[in-house]
Amino acid sequence: MSISTQGERPTVRKHSAQRVAVVTGAADGIGWATARRLAEDVAHVALLDMRLDAARERAIELGGTHLALRADVTSADDVRQAIDAVIEQFGRIDVLINNAGIGDQSAPTVEQDVDAFDRVLAVHLRGTYLMSRAVAKVMLAQRSGAIVNLGSIAALGGIPGRNAYGAAKAGILAMTRAMACEWARGGVRVNAVAPGYVRTQLVVELERRGTLNAAAIEARTPMGRFAAPEEIAEAVAFLASDRASFITGTTLAVDGGWLALAAPESVLESQGANH
Ligand code: NAD
Repeated sequence: MSISTQGERPTVRKHSAQRVAVVTGAADGIGWATARRLAEDVAHVALLDMRLDAARERAIELGGTHLALRADVTSADDVRQAIDAVIEQFGRIDVLINNAGIGDQSAPTVEQDVDAFDRVLAVHLRGTYLMSRAVAKVMLAQRSGAIVNLGSIAALGGIPGRNAYGAAKAGILAMTRAMACEWARGGVRVNAVAPGYVRTQLVVELERRGTLNAAAIEARTPMGRFAAPEEIAEAVAFLASDRASFITGTTLAVDGGWLALAAPESVLESQGANH
């Protein structure tokens, strides 16, 4: 096993025929579950995160010839250097997962901070744009590749106060369609998943502190529970794989039925009781 990080000399042999995936925000939550899942399908996973130490630990935990990289996806320089490092090490990129993200501020709209608004847009929207742009150059030259973006149910329904987050996720879905059409004949597919509520460490911690009403979320979800990060990762891995070879420009909701419900949630309880 050999692990390398950006800035250090490559320590693995280059296998140009072996598939390579880049996952942003891979040190935690859905990104980490996705990196684990993709490691079953591809030879090398580049785990990119702002927190290099955490990404390094994850790369070691994953084993094999994987790579940890530090980059802030909002920085064009960071993104360029990270992609150069992946190419230097592995010679190609077959899969990009634009997962890095942050939550929105919790104040009411009239009291919100404009800088915080801009930062949420930057991480999600600019980050997805910069990463896709840099990686697509590589994929178009290969004439193959798959990009999967993380959307959210917040892109498709309104969450009071979550202005930047909802707008950023809706923008990501729009960009998914635009890039999919632009690059389809170049052999590059672009899709998105729209998760519902996912039980990541953050959710567990918020629940423990009593600042998240998990019971209310479960009651509003037709399947009556949160998603596990692995369930989102499975959908991402499908869209990234050749099994999705004729799918591009689409958004796959992975939400336990959240978006399908257009009735009071009490109807769910009575349905459950009937069967
Ligand atoms: P998380 O906070 O557990 O992990 C996010 C990771 O992204 C962290 O490791 C963090 O260091 C990294 N990151 C943050 N900003 C970055 C930046 N500028 N550059 C590089 N890395 C950065 O988050 P999560 O809950 O796993 O969410 C992952 C994605 O899924 C996000 O895009 C989020 O919006 C989306 N999503 C999450 C949920 C949910 O319920 N958790 C639901 C729908 C969509």
